[in-house]
Amino acid sequence: MGSPPGPQDPAAPAESAPAPPATPAPGPAGSADPPSAAGPVYPLSLKLAGRRVLVVGGGPVALRRVAGLREAGAEIVVVAPRLTPALADLAARGLITAHQRGYEPGDLDGAWLVLACTDQPGVNAAVAAEAERQRLWCARADDAAASAAWVPAVGRTGAVTVAVNAGRDPRRAAELRDRFVDTVAAAGRMAASAAAPAPGAQPAAGRVSIVGGGPGDPGLITVTGLHRLREADVVLTDRLAPVALLEQLAPDVHVVDAAKVPGGPSMRQDHINRALVEHARAGRAVVRLKGGDPFVFGRGREEVEACLAAGIPVEVIPGVTSAISVPAAAGIPVTHRGVSQGFCVLAGHVRPGDSRSSVDWAALARSGMTLVLLMAVDHLAEIADTLISAGLDGGTPGAVVSDGWSRRQRVVTAPLRDLAGAVRAAGVTNPAVVVVGDVADLATSDLLAPGAPSSPGAPAPAAPPAADSPPSAPGPAAAAPFSPFPGTGRAGRRVLVLGGARSGKSAAAEDMLAGDGPVDYVATGVPPGSGDAEWDARVTEHQRRRPPHWRTVETLALADVLAAPGPAPVLVDCLTTWLARVMDDCGAWDDADGAAGALAARTDEVLRAWQQTSRQVIAVSNEIGSGVVPGTASGRRFRDELGRLNARIAAESDEVWLCTAGIARRLR
Ligand code: SAH
Repeated sequence: MGSPPGPQDPAAPAESAPAPPATPAPGPAGSADPPSAAGPVYPLSLKLAGRRVLVVGGGPVALRRVAGLREAGAEIVVVAPRLTPALADLAARGLITAHQRGYEPGDLDGAWLVLACTDQPGVNAAVAAEAERQRLWCARADDAAASAAWVPAVGRTGAVTVAVNAGRDPRRAAELRDRFVDTVAAAGRMAASAAAPAPGAQPAAGRVSIVGGGPGDPGLITVTGLHRLREADVVLTDRLAPVALLEQLAPDVHVVDAAKVPGGPSMRQDHINRALVEHARAGRAVVRLKGGDPFVFGRGREEVEACLAAGIPVEVIPGVTSAISVPAAAGIPVTHRGVSQGFCVLAGHVRPGDSRSSVDWAALARSGMTLVLLMAVDHLAEIADTLISAGLDGGTPGAVVSDGWSRRQRVVTAPLRDLAGAVRAAGVTNPAVVVVGDVADLATSDLLAPGAPSSPGAPAPAAPPAADSPPSAPGPAAAAPFSPFPGTGRAGRRVLVLGGARSGKSAAAEDMLAGDGPVDYVATGVPPGSGDAEWDARVTEHQRRRPPHWRTVETLALADVLAAPGPAPVLVDCLTTWLARVMDDCGAWDDADGAAGALAARTDEVLRAWQQTSRQVIAVSNEIGSGVVPGTASGRRFRDELGRLNARIAAESDEVWLCTAGIARRLR
């Protein structure tokens, strides 16, 4: 496993390629000029552990050098009249030695290497000259041409250290460093996956990384988390994780949608645990990609325990939790000097008063802390009433931020007593974070949107209302329908391929995409291992047919796949199994309470996504009802539902095909 690249010395322009000083640096009388800088540099890697390195200067450049030297284990002595607070802190903690005074001859004694990084060219020159006399290597930060040694841009991945000098262009060096590190990491992955185990050999040791992906923006995963993701053979992802990153994975990475949608399709936790263990046992690098932080309402610890119990090596990479970052996306700090001295994060998915609730709402009402509630939109009215009855002022500012860090982000602000009504009126739904406390008044629409500072489609949170004003309406952008490519108005080519059982419909659909680049193959059926041997054989047959550069995604969240931006065409195989499993989820076979509504909501959602998708998409479905009337009520219900779904999808498709006996004919 590689460690993240460490940009120890990004070599910013000010350090290595400064504008020449206005007056030439005066060398001390009698100093020897360094030898000519002409000719290529001679690269060398130094083992500095336990060896003294003198750093002259106590500013930001020195701080960066010290960081790199500490990583190498050097014994660091800093000489400078003033130190940055971070350097002073390192000295106070005994991690470096600092002499707070000007440089004096003799400071070099005992040093193996010298870094001159003051902002005084004269001092740097004096240090360099003395080093020259003592035959010590000295790197001057202010004048690359006059410097005897240069500090390259450094990055690391695994056992590989990349060091780049790019003439006098440190930005270029840093860019090249990043590219080389990426290339080395990718080559390592390829070599690992190409190395076929010898017959009879033990499979490679698998491992599980439980990675916090942050609140959804692909830029908010940690560097280490991103590295684990790039090294993964298998990724089990959550719905609130930064799924856009999955697009960048190599085509052979197996992506499993292990989403838990409240009231919707879910992969059971014990199934997730089992999948983590089984993939790792098969020698795979497994990433469990989660939204936010794995240990904040993330069930991360249960997954850790499942791995430990099975003897699987497991690690946890923390993430940026939505509890803090989603309010921040609306400009709300969870603490603020003079306003809030603390915050409390709690889940609102269980009603106050419910026997499963262990929250002391009365204590929270008195706490004076900012309350941050996750999963709380559905019970917001009861939560607000409970807090107000326990003594919290109904005028306490409140804010609800939904779909934080996405273009769909919406912010509703209102006093606590009106908050639930405002949220209902605005039609704001999960995922959302609720903030109760005076900091909610700090919601602002003036922040730059992530990744798109001035893009017209960027979220524009509603301005907070004046105290006691009516609840705010959603902001102007909040009401606009989401489109990943606003303004293009062009949906992708949508194709429906119908056919009976064994009609060749899947093969026909696959042929339509053969020869294209990577395809996202969405498998909606029960994954193999269901115990049904015939089903397993069919899944295996389909798997074998698929080109190796296609990516298989097992999911029922079709709407999410269709809404995700991405160049790869999508092949959904098939709507029939999707519908059957969604009917299972909704209890629609036997007309359970609310089942019809739940099913209609799920099919409407897919239809909307089908209409709006910007991706090329082919869906396979069964042509149903060739005159035989199913013998059971549930069979007839399924026939009717699928017939309706097919007709609606067909009406919104650019092409409709019908397969019989292996022959495909275009109907539209
Ligand atoms: N482990 C996650 C929380 C999981 S609970 C974390 O640390 O962030 C899921 C809840 O998180 C959602 O119901 C919602 O309340 C909140 N949430 C996660 N991502 C969000 C987002 N992008 N915008 C708004 N709320 C979000």
